Amino acid sequence: MSIPQAKMELRPLGNTGLKVSSVGFGASPLGSVFGPVAEVDAVATVREAFRQGINFFDTSPYYGGTLSEKMLGKGLKALQVPRSDYIVATKCGRYEERFDFSAERVTKSIDESLERLQLDYVDILHCHDIEFGSLDQIVSETIPALQKLKREGKTRFIGITGLPLDIFTYVLDRVPPGTVDVILSYCHYGINDSTLLDLIPYLKEKGVGVISASPLAMGLLTEQGGPEWHPASPELKSACKAAAAHCKSKGKKITKLALQYSLANKEISSVLVGMSSVSQVEENVAAVKELEDLGMDQETLSEVEAILEPVKNQTWPSGVDQK
Ligand code: NAD
Repeated sequence: MSIPQAKMELRPLGNTGLKVSSVGFGASPLGSVFGPVAEVDAVATVREAFRQGINFFDTSPYYGGTLSEKMLGKGLKALQVPRSDYIVATKCGRYEERFDFSAERVTKSIDESLERLQLDYVDILHCHDIEFGSLDQIVSETIPALQKLKREGKTRFIGITGLPLDIFTYVLDRVPPGTVDVILSYCHYGINDSTLLDLIPYLKEKGVGVISASPLAMGLLTEQGGPEWHPASPELKSACKAAAAHCKSKGKKITKLALQYSLANKEISSVLVGMSSVSQVEENVAAVKELEDLGMDQETLSEVEAILEPVKNQTWPSGVDQK
């Protein structure tokens, strides 16, 4: 059986040979981390995303304490399409209970993830939020373990993720070229924070693919606002709230503007947006089409940028002291 698929722009991911949809499906909301999501809705959301041309799906055992992987697995299975029609990334090293980047744990972790996802392999296996582990362990133990998994065919490519941008250069400067295929940065390429921009030339030179997540600043740039656990400062939260209210007062959607802002940079291979309903998929895909056809609403963007100016590039601490 095949599902008629709409066309979405595909972008090359570093040197991997993969072509990922410009919008990627962030599956953390399927783990009910932003509010409860029923299985039937999770499956329908994955189906709608695929139908609309999204071919890239991102999850982790950490999201919803393994629930996201299970839900995504069900959604992908229900598509009943060839495995090569979609690209799946999951992660290792971060779990609900604790961080563990040991070779033993990550080697076991991929088997558990594959079982939950009902897959034989993933396309990308990321070390998840490496700033919470020892970066030297990531270099000397975790990545070599992932290379072994790559040779065994359990993952096609290796990635690293995290919040502080200097973790990427730390690791990439210490591993042989071609060892780490992609990086996943989050909350650093959106209207309120665009600091990832400075790192892109370095990553390009290394041939490392760039995935940028959380264009909506993990929910802050939405009308409903971020979740309770959001780590941003009260100033950043209230500035984002004011920006969302401003867009609403003009009859505009902040989510559309925020997503388009991230998508407009073609050096970023895929922008991962968390989605948990068919209507969110429809809205986000419509934003992509509108950007292609009409470009950005520059007037509203300038107004929102002015509101966010006092908190521009403000971030929050993440990880452990590496000294
Ligand atoms: P996000 O900025 O994409 O925001 C997600 C929130 O916005 C959710 O509550 C979602 O339901 C809501 N939303 C999405 N589209 C909407 C719309 N059109 N209207 C209203 N609300 C909408 O943040 P995120 O989910 O944290 O990030 C995206 C994905 O990137 C994650 O699901 C995950 O896969 C990945 N990610 C990875 C890391 C990491 O590896 N360290 C960190 C953050 C995110």
